Amino acid sequence: MQAYDPDNVFAKILRGEIPATRVYEDSDTLAFMDIMPRSDGHLLVIPTTPCRNVLDASPAQLEAVIRTVKKLSVAAKAAFAADGLTIQQFNEAAGGQEVFHLHFHILPRHDGVALRAPGQMGDMAAIAAHADKIRAAL
Ligand code: AMP
Repeated sequence: MQAYDPDNVFAKILRGEIPATRVYEDSDTLAFMDIMPRSDGHLLVIPTTPCRNVLDASPAQLEAVIRTVKKLSVAAKAAFAADGLTIQQFNEAAGGQEVFHLHFHILPRHDGVALRAPGQMGDMAAIAAHADKIRAAL
C-alpha cells in the first residue's frame, strides 16, 4: 500500500488551499459537499488527520468519521425528505477510490430515482443551496 500523499485534494481542502462547501466540522472530522453530486445533497465526510482509507485508518479515526456520518445522514435525510440514503466508501484504485484520503459518501435517495452518472460537475449555486438545507437540519 502506498504512503499517504499530503497533496491529495482533500488534504488541500483541510488546509484551506482550495475551496469547499463546508457543512459541518469538529476537531476530528469535516463534512462538505461533493462537487460532482450523484444525488441532491451528496456529501463527503473525512477525518481531519491523514489516512488513505479504511486499511490504514486508526480505530479512533474510523469512530470519529462514522459518528459524523451518522449525524450528517440524519440531517441530510430530513433536509431532502429522502426515503433513504446510500453510503459509499472505496478503498484503493481497485476498489474504486480516486481521492486517497479516507472519505464516506452520503447520498440522499428517493424511491425510484436512480443516481446520476459519476463524473459530472454540479451547479455550484445548487450545491450551495443544498448545503444550506443540510446545515439548517443539523
Ligand atoms: P472516490 O475516491 O471514488 O470516492 O471519488 C472521489 C469523490 O470526490 C468524487 O465523488 C468526486 O466528485 C469528489 N471530489 C473530487 N474533488 C473534489 C473537490 N475538490 N470537492 C468536493 N468533492 C470532490
